[in-house]
Amino acid sequence: MRYPFLNLATVNAPYMEELQRATQRVVTSGWYVGGPVCQRLEDNMAQMAQTRHCVGVSNGLDALRLIFRSLIEHGRLKPGDKVLVPANTYIASVLAVTDAGLEPVFVEPRLDTLNIDPERVLEAAADPAVRSLLVVHLYGRVAWDERYNALADRLVVVEDVAQAIGAVSPIPGINGTTVAGSLGHAAGFSFYPTKNIGALGDAGCVTTNDTAIARTVRALANYGSFQRYHNEYEGFNCRLDPIQAACINVKLPHTAAENGYRREIARIYDQEIRHTAVRKPLFVDTDEMVWHQYVILTHERDRLRQYLTDHGVGTDINYPTPPHLQPCYARYNGLSLPLAEQIADQCLSLPITRCTTPDDARAIASILNAYH
Ligand SMILES: *Cc1c(COP(=O)(O)O)cnc(C)c1O
Repeated sequence: MRYPFLNLATVNAPYMEELQRATQRVVTSGWYVGGPVCQRLEDNMAQMAQTRHCVGVSNGLDALRLIFRSLIEHGRLKPGDKVLVPANTYIASVLAVTDAGLEPVFVEPRLDTLNIDPERVLEAAADPAVRSLLVVHLYGRVAWDERYNALADRLVVVEDVAQAIGAVSPIPGINGTTVAGSLGHAAGFSFYPTKNIGALGDAGCVTTNDTAIARTVRALANYGSFQRYHNEYEGFNCRLDPIQAACINVKLPHTAAENGYRREIARIYDQEIRHTAVRKPLFVDTDEMVWHQYVILTHERDRLRQYLTDHGVGTDINYPTPPHLQPCYARYNGLSLPLAEQIADQCLSLPITRCTTPDDARAIASILNAYH
């Protein structure tokens, strides 16, 4: 592949020496679970997300699971309560909801932002059984809407920031802040290696201003225990690994630069792709979008993908099957969510990481423009 979609060794190349030094320090420290390196990650993330608390956890799915479990432990949600979720998202968003015994209500996206449609959120929220809203900043684009601030008086609003680290909302959230991860009641981040800031394995965190949620998430992630050998909850082991925390601490200060690099590639695509069969994502020149993916829509997705492959351009599909059509969700397979299904059929992700240089992006755009 002349223009690979992604190669994680290339993505991490600028950090190799620092990553080796930082992980080596953990190896020699003898502190292999929790400890000061994890604490530093939590301090760094709380500062970056402008929240009072951050709890490091094992991955992004666990971050969201633990938030919903903690809300249940506190009686703020109860099993069977309905949670509004985007119909167009990675399945982990929905798995966190159903894992907690909550009932997902799939809400269709807007075709311009590919994020959950705020008008439909407002309509669906009229059902009194709806007790929560999961806002997913998909592909790195902030999904906040001004009207969610009023909804948050009645609904617990959780953010899935797995794809949007460093993103900034044009509209303040319920805490008066604008950074993704501080907009709702609690937020889950992922540092999965392919995310904008990726570890060298699985990792994640929860950010929140709510002390009770933070405490309970931390306990649940540690066998349900606040205090050694005293178990308050039927918990899990979902702790953050300090080797991963060390890697994230190396990369976090470069979040703006990493997101900025992606934006420059997106800008080139936006300026240079002009094929009539392609619908480009809305380009915004702000941190409202941190370009985790550059997703185009096209009626001829599979044929275009093959053409790009034949011309040395790697692509991906995020995602080919929406959650409600997955085999594990047979109970939702009968739902009709035409917009989410259309996106699944038409979406194609172009390369947008450090593996793609500006010249590569221009070459990819011109290959794409020559498609017929
Ligand atoms: C990656 C991702 C997750 C899950 O994060 P993991 O760390 O892989 O468990 C959740 N939601 C979205 C939108 C994601 O992209």
